[in-house]
Amino acid sequence: MKKKFLIRSFGCQMNKLDTNLVVNSFIQSGFELTDQPAATDIVLINTCSVRRHAEERVLSLLGHLKHIKKTQPGIIVAVFGCMAQRLKEDLLSHEAVNIVCGPLQIPELVNLVNNDIPKQVAISDNIRHKPLLQDSERLDAFECAYDTAEDNLPAQAYVRVMRGCDNFCSYCVVPYVRGPEASRPPEKIIAQIKKLADAGIKQVTLLGQTVNSYCYNGSSFADLLYEVSKINGIEWIKFVTCYPRNFDEKIFKAMVDLPKICRYLHIPAQSGSDKILKAMNRGYTSAQYLEIIDKAREIVPDIAIAGDFIVGFSGETDEDFRKTVELVEKAQYKNCFIFKYSPRPGTRADDKLADDVPMEVKKQRNIELLAVQEKISAELNKSFIGKTVKVLVEGMSKKGHLDGATEKEYPQLIGRTAGDYIVVFDGPANLAGQFVDINITRASSLTLFGQTN
Ligand code: SF4
Repeated sequence: MKKKFLIRSFGCQMNKLDTNLVVNSFIQSGFELTDQPAATDIVLINTCSVRRHAEERVLSLLGHLKHIKKTQPGIIVAVFGCMAQRLKEDLLSHEAVNIVCGPLQIPELVNLVNNDIPKQVAISDNIRHKPLLQDSERLDAFECAYDTAEDNLPAQAYVRVMRGCDNFCSYCVVPYVRGPEASRPPEKIIAQIKKLADAGIKQVTLLGQTVNSYCYNGSSFADLLYEVSKINGIEWIKFVTCYPRNFDEKIFKAMVDLPKICRYLHIPAQSGSDKILKAMNRGYTSAQYLEIIDKAREIVPDIAIAGDFIVGFSGETDEDFRKTVELVEKAQYKNCFIFKYSPRPGTRADDKLADDVPMEVKKQRNIELLAVQEKISAELNKSFIGKTVKVLVEGMSKKGHLDGATEKEYPQLIGRTAGDYIVVFDGPANLAGQFVDINITRASSLTLFGQTN
C-alpha cells in the first residue's frame, strides 16, 4: 500500500512553489497525498522565518504533533525551508521532529524520508558561500522535473528565475537562510516555461526575492522578459518581487513593448522615512523610491502598483510614521501589505537596534496605515465601474463554496486582471483557467464585482 503524506506550508510564493515541487516529487516517488492527519504516515512542514508569527505557528503545530506521536509513534515529521535552515539542530532536538532539511536540500527530502533513520539533518553549513555548480544544477534539475505543480491555480504556474538575496536589509533573515543571489540560466527557464505552456499553462509568474536584479552572463531581467514573451501559449507574464534600487527602466519599456507582460509592479518601500530606511539598510531614500514609481507611470501609464510596509521598526517616531503615511498617499498603490515589525534572531536589527516601539503603538500605526490605503484602494477600484476587464479565472470564490452552486444557476467565481485586481462574478465553474471579459458593476476596497458579457 502506498505511504501517505500530508503537507503544511507557511510563507511567501517562493515557499508555495517549493511546496508544489515537493508534493510532486513525493507523488512521483510513489507516495499518496492526504489531508487527513489521522491517516498520514508522513507530515511535511514547509517553514518561513520572515516573521515571528510564522515560526510560532510551526512550533504550535509541532507541539500538536508531539501529542499525536504518543499514539502514532511511526509518523515521520520533516521540517524544511527557512526555519529549518535557521534553527538547524535545535529543531531536530524537538521530540516531534525526525528530519530537518534546508531550502537548498529540498531535492533530497524524499530520500531522507525513505532512509528510515529516526533523526536526520540536511542543511548548508555555510550558506553564504556561493552555491557550488553541482548544487545549482541539482536544484535546477529538481525545478524542471516537476513543473506542472499539483495545487497551482488552473492554467497558472510559478517559475523561479533566481534564488537567494544579497541585500541584507537589517531586519531580514532571507540572505542567511536562502543564501546568496544566484540567477538561473535563461535557457533552462525558457525550456521549463515551454514545457509548462505545452501542458496548458497560460500565465507564468516569475519569482525572485529581488527579481529585477536577475542577471545571468550579462543577460538582464528585461532581456529575460523579451525571451519569455516569445513562448507560444503563454499569454500573461507576471513577476514578483522588485527591489527599489538600481531599477532598470528597460523593464518598464518591456511592459509597453510586449503585450504579454502584465502591467503590475509589486515594489516594497517598507518606510517613508529616510532615517528608518537607512536603519533598515534599504539603500534608497523615499524620494528615490518615488522617482521609480513616477518613471513607471510615465512609461506605463496604466501600471498597477502594490507596496509593502513595516510599521514600528526600531526608532520609528510619530514623525517617521507620518512620512510613511505621506509616501502611501503619494504612491497611490492599488494595495499594500502592511506588517508590524518583529525582530528576527540573527539579523543586524535584532543584534544592534532596540525593538523600542511598544506593541500598542505598532498596532495603532498598522490600523491607521491600512485605513489610509483602504481609502485609496476604494477610489481606484471605483474607477473600474462601467468598464470591461479581462480576467484569468482562478475558480470558485470562498463565498461560491459557502453558497453552494446548487442554490444559484452559477457559482460565484474569482479571477484576477493583468494588474492583479481581484474580480468576483457569477459564471459556470468550467470557466476556471479561462480568460473572460467581465463588466464591472460595483467595487469595494478589496474587490471588483461584475458580470460576464
Ligand atoms: S531585499 Fe531585503 S527584505 Fe528582500 S529578501 Fe533581500 S534582505 Fe530580505
